[in-house]
Amino acid sequence: MRLVLLGPPGAGKGTQSARLTEKYRIPQLSTGDMLRAAVKAATPVGLEAKAVMDKGGLVPDETVVGIVADRIEAPDAKGGFILDGFPRTVAQAEALAKMLRAKNMELDAVVELKVDDAALLARIVNRVKETLASGGTVRADDNPEAFKVRLDAYHAQTAPVSDFYAKNALLKSVDGMAPVDAVTHAIDDILESSRRPAQTS
Ligand code: AMP
Repeated sequence: MRLVLLGPPGAGKGTQSARLTEKYRIPQLSTGDMLRAAVKAATPVGLEAKAVMDKGGLVPDETVVGIVADRIEAPDAKGGFILDGFPRTVAQAEALAKMLRAKNMELDAVVELKVDDAALLARIVNRVKETLASGGTVRADDNPEAFKVRLDAYHAQTAPVSDFYAKNALLKSVDGMAPVDAVTHAIDDILESSRRPAQTS
């Protein structure tokens, strides 16, 4: 199963990816997590990405494409993967298509979680409150200013990615405002109907 989860920041991609990982036993490849790990480890990629990420902007395509190209080569991704937060631009979607073609691989589905902007803002405020209450560390880009930039980047650069996948009939949309379990069920239904018959993973 090779899946792309699309949706604005705070739409629940991380939560749903974690559930899918358990069910299908395939890794969640979150470019946001990979970049945050690079920032923490102060690698050259991390050092380059940090300022952009803190402000809520998008890291350059070549950087992110390079990270994903390496990651999907890892043994745990051979049987499939869930891409969470990638592709975020049409150029990234094209690079992914090229990468997969070269490996004779195809995506099984692209699922878009649809949530309106007001609900997203409320969710992010809540996420910060919950993180603080549990003694956790709030992400540097989980503040209203950076969140607005992330949302703007989503509308300007990532929304066209949905059209890219709609053109080849891979795109399926799910109401991301529904309760978490209902969203999971809706995604499950989509994945069951898009599994190719010969596929075992
Ligand atoms: P996320 O955890 O997916 O919300 O990503 C956090 C931040 O990492 C984003 O606001 C971007 O700065 C950066 N990022 C993650 N994925 C990508 C991507 N595919 N392209 C560009 N920047 C990304």
